[in-house]
Amino acid sequence: MKRHFLKRLLGGLAAAGLFCIPALALSQDKGLVAVSMPTKSSARWIADGSNMVKSLGEKGYKADLQYADDDIPNQLAQIENMVTKGPKVLVIAAIDGSTLSDVLQKAADKGIKVIAYDRLIRGSKNVDYYATFDNFQVGVLQAQSIEKALDLKAGKGPFNIELFGGSPDDNNAFFFYNGAMSVLKPYIDSGKLVVRSKQMGMEKVGTLRWDGAVAQARMDNLLSAYYSKERVHAVLSPYDGLSIGILSSLKGVGYGSASLPMPVVTGQDAEVPSMKSILRKEQTSTIFKDTRELAKVTVSMVDAMMAGKKPEVNDTKTYENGVKVVPSYLLKPVSVDASNWKAVLVDSGYYKESQIK
Ligand code: BGC
Repeated sequence: MKRHFLKRLLGGLAAAGLFCIPALALSQDKGLVAVSMPTKSSARWIADGSNMVKSLGEKGYKADLQYADDDIPNQLAQIENMVTKGPKVLVIAAIDGSTLSDVLQKAADKGIKVIAYDRLIRGSKNVDYYATFDNFQVGVLQAQSIEKALDLKAGKGPFNIELFGGSPDDNNAFFFYNGAMSVLKPYIDSGKLVVRSKQMGMEKVGTLRWDGAVAQARMDNLLSAYYSKERVHAVLSPYDGLSIGILSSLKGVGYGSASLPMPVVTGQDAEVPSMKSILRKEQTSTIFKDTRELAKVTVSMVDAMMAGKKPEVNDTKTYENGVKVVPSYLLKPVSVDASNWKAVLVDSGYYKESQIK
């Protein structure tokens, strides 16, 4: 009602030549886009959600943003409810990428488009596009930070390493692990890196729901079972939330002192507690994924589809979801450590220096 009145008023004023209406002012209602995010327990997903709402708003879409508390049935119920509201597009960062087939069929039946956000949705033909980062490269960068810190290229070693993987129901976790192993495996094969526990492969090293407490408990077990006489020199961790757990376990048995230096520990997402940890020389590195850019890419996909155009993609081979290859746009992840954090995170306006220091 109100909007109608405003339109008529503006139209009337313009017709009377009183002022010019910017074209945008009247075209700002392009419809609803539903955004389903996994959890608020990690700052990265909170940033994703707010950047999506902002970018959608800038392009004239309304957003229905919901978080599922890392609970699969909860996310399913939220998406079912979103579908009933008839959005133009569903944007989903799935908790378990393989549990959404039925609801996506319902969405497709209503003509709703679907974009997999950051995490691939598996087992459904009803996924139109995938916006993400180069997930294999994330793992490569994590492993290269270990390679550099231990000077492995110069032939140093042998060093002891333990491996952690992400949640086995998240397709990304396999890409991170495989990317990292593409760098680490040759050193393991040549004996320059030794996995004392022999725990390798996602089925052994995966961490359900990316839970830091689970990683901490596993690190406790590894340290007591394999490192009473040996020292651990590196830990591959795929995500900052796990790194924090791993680091507390290490501190618990005295790592981080002159006689027992902290091992190299990787991470991902450049979350504030981990950035502070990097500056305290505990965590070694993390991977920055600019969620502002991911939101922009996703919203451009929405906008292109709504205009009947083909969204821009840069990968049409990698992300096979069990039913089809989902056309993807991959952004570049960036490795961050104590040497470049200011340039990458502060100069780009992602964080204020005071948030980290
Ligand atoms: C994301 C990572 C994140 C992890 C845990 C993955 O799917 O790509 O950036 O660290 O989930 O939230």
